[in-house]
Amino acid sequence: MITQRELFIRHVAQTSPFPLALEIERAEGCYIYDTSGKKYMDLISGISVSNLGHCHPEVVAAVKEQVDKYMHVMVYGEYVQSPQVQLAELLASVLPASLSSVYFVNSGAEAIEGAMKLAKRCTGRKQFASFKNAYHGSTQGALSLMGDERLKQPFYPLLPDILSLRFNQQDDLQLITDLTAAVIVEPIQGEAGVVLPVSDFLKKLAERCAATGALLIFDEVQTGYGRTGRLFAFEHYGVVPDILCLAKGMGGGMPLGAFISSAKLMSFLSVNPELGHITTFGGHPVCCAAGYATLRIILAGDMMNMVQQKEKLFAERLKHKRIKNIRVKGLLVALELENFEQNKKVIDACVKNGLIVDWFLFNMKSMRIAPPLIITKEEIIKSCDIIIDCLNV
Ligand code: PMP
Repeated sequence: MITQRELFIRHVAQTSPFPLALEIERAEGCYIYDTSGKKYMDLISGISVSNLGHCHPEVVAAVKEQVDKYMHVMVYGEYVQSPQVQLAELLASVLPASLSSVYFVNSGAEAIEGAMKLAKRCTGRKQFASFKNAYHGSTQGALSLMGDERLKQPFYPLLPDILSLRFNQQDDLQLITDLTAAVIVEPIQGEAGVVLPVSDFLKKLAERCAATGALLIFDEVQTGYGRTGRLFAFEHYGVVPDILCLAKGMGGGMPLGAFISSAKLMSFLSVNPELGHITTFGGHPVCCAAGYATLRIILAGDMMNMVQQKEKLFAERLKHKRIKNIRVKGLLVALELENFEQNKKVIDACVKNGLIVDWFLFNMKSMRIAPPLIITKEEIIKSCDIIIDCLNV
């Protein structure tokens, strides 16, 4: 009989020639169970999505409750839907006053696309600036901003007039001028392998944007929702962007993203032309109900303090002669090894031992560790022990 795995290869479009192809049975908390009954600790949270763990009971309950009331009713922006309104209001209450208007979308790339269109409309300019080794999504606008030629080249032509700046290089900020509509930046570069901004780089960037009239867009698709030990990474650096892009952890496991700005800037999207940016499913009520439960849970407890303590524990336990460098912010960890071959070997051994880790798109010699924020100290110690064991292989 043909197996699920064979059908997967045959009929589900593939993204690489070597899919991991775990056959998933169920997932709960930090764990994923495959159809053979094997248990894996998910140390990457489905790539920074399951910040509350898989199937958090309150998120699941919120989804079920909403499903019983209504699912899709009409394209986003026409009807008053309480899951959207509640979530937008709660977000506005935890964000600076200038980030009070939430445009809901389905994904990170869509948040970036919307932010780019908004910046064009607000400034009347066409040029964008982004950073080397930045990842902002796979759609063509977001791809145009990507700081890696190898992934971009096969898809040319992309958007013209994109400046590519070096992260943490103040000199490059001079390239931003009054022609620049917006600068898009991950405050901590994720796919580059957890590259932290040096000293006041983000402040200098914000100053240059203010001086030239370029908008500052923060891509917090990966760093948002508590991942770095603050609700949003910009809180670490004392810089408030003009537009904030979110997704991944926002939906608590459901597809949800947003770009957020001031009501004044956001109003540009509702006129000249009207309906200049619309989406059928963005802000889906079931996803927003999940998102509202997610944000309430993150805000209710002491989660951010705990993340900071857990960060220290990882840094303490991950010591081995093969580890060349470790870059950490909250529960976003990059463990740099000698080269990709060694990293891949260790990653494969970890997976074999029931621990899911990965590498970074633009830093293949570094191991990605980004567990659910609810991971316990015992689970951290156990997972670090497995990694250290696998480093000895
Ligand atoms: N921005 C960043 C920083 C990301 O890490 C990602 C996804 N890895 C995206 C944007 C794109 O998000 P999505 O895959 O939901 O389109």
